[in-house]
Amino acid sequence: MKLAIRAGRLFDGVAAEPVEHPVVLVDGGRIVAVGSGTEPPAEAEVVDLGAATLVPGFVDSHVHLVFDASTDPVSRLSDLDDDLLLDEMRARARQALAAGITTVRDLGDRGYLSLRLRDELAADPTAGPQVLAAGPPITTGRGHCWFLGGETTGGPDAVRAAVRERAARGVDVVKLMATGGELTPGTSSHLAQFAVDELAAAVDEAHRLGLPTTAHAHGATGIANAVAAGVDMIEHGTFMTADSIEPDPALIAAIAEAGIPIGATVAQKPKPGVTPPPRILKLLPLIVGLFREFRAAGIPIVCSSDFGIGPLKEPDCLPYGPTQLVTFLGDAPADALRAVTSLAADACGLGDRKGRLAAGFDADVVAVDGDPLADPAALTAVTAVFRAGVRVPLPR
Ligand SMILES: [Zn+2]
Repeated sequence: MKLAIRAGRLFDGVAAEPVEHPVVLVDGGRIVAVGSGTEPPAEAEVVDLGAATLVPGFVDSHVHLVFDASTDPVSRLSDLDDDLLLDEMRARARQALAAGITTVRDLGDRGYLSLRLRDELAADPTAGPQVLAAGPPITTGRGHCWFLGGETTGGPDAVRAAVRERAARGVDVVKLMATGGELTPGTSSHLAQFAVDELAAAVDEAHRLGLPTTAHAHGATGIANAVAAGVDMIEHGTFMTADSIEPDPALIAAIAEAGIPIGATVAQKPKPGVTPPPRILKLLPLIVGLFREFRAAGIPIVCSSDFGIGPLKEPDCLPYGPTQLVTFLGDAPADALRAVTSLAADACGLGDRKGRLAAGFDADVVAVDGDPLADPAALTAVTAVFRAGVRVPLPR
């Protein structure tokens, strides 16, 4: 049975000019055609969404389904056994999907639970996004997020073994903790964890097994190590020092030269009375300056959420991200929309299936009120969601 989705206009994931009066024809979970002002074929079931704008389902390239978006997600996690945790992860997956997030890349779970969820959601597209999963991130002894279970003893051989274990489990991506992080007491965001030869061994082993890699890296040494090791993506990339942000122009040029995208985990959903941690708030203007330098160097900036790590990071916060790119980086709305659709899909290795509304792509389609190409805030006014061509019942 073919499905024809009609609406007022459409952003295809790439073009700055909308398609007016679109008809998206879907068959077997894939888009077979996108027309403008065309009549749906007689045999198709027609869904008319009126004046809404159709956009590609959003791709969140950095999430943590195991974290609960409280002020202390780490302690909370240690209170939960796997069954209870998996139930919470299912609820978060539903919350994300209802906001139009049809694909998430989980960059750190406990006990490979996100892989179990991935397999469940593959069987029921209305229950959550498509999941790409890293399992427990690979880290050093008592290193960043060690409590998720991904500690290694150190040295290239141990890191290779950790990659092989994940490949055997069936992960989609390998996550490497190249520096400490804000969430983990006893680690420092500005300090490198692994040496270059350890990261290079991980990347080599992952690539040999057909897996992409992405590195959590704040401090410049960690970023430089990740670039030298040949990682496929860098998360955060903040050039953090002990108390400031200090961009290194030569390193920025090296990131650009290598074509490595930066995952800017900036999306957050405003909550009355809640502000980001004071340390981050203080650094914010400097981080904005840094990201403008990334833009100027031609580095692809993917907008993601890191959802779960704090109160502003609810599982449905990604659609708020593009507005921040427009406000802080001065992005054109179309660029900001690409950062959560086609560009995010490319960075996740899904550029031929996700992030665009075009023939041959998965029928992950979101309808929003208003015109996000004029104001990306419209992305948060979701009126309909389809994943793999199946309409998702939305909570009222
Ligand atoms: Zn993260």
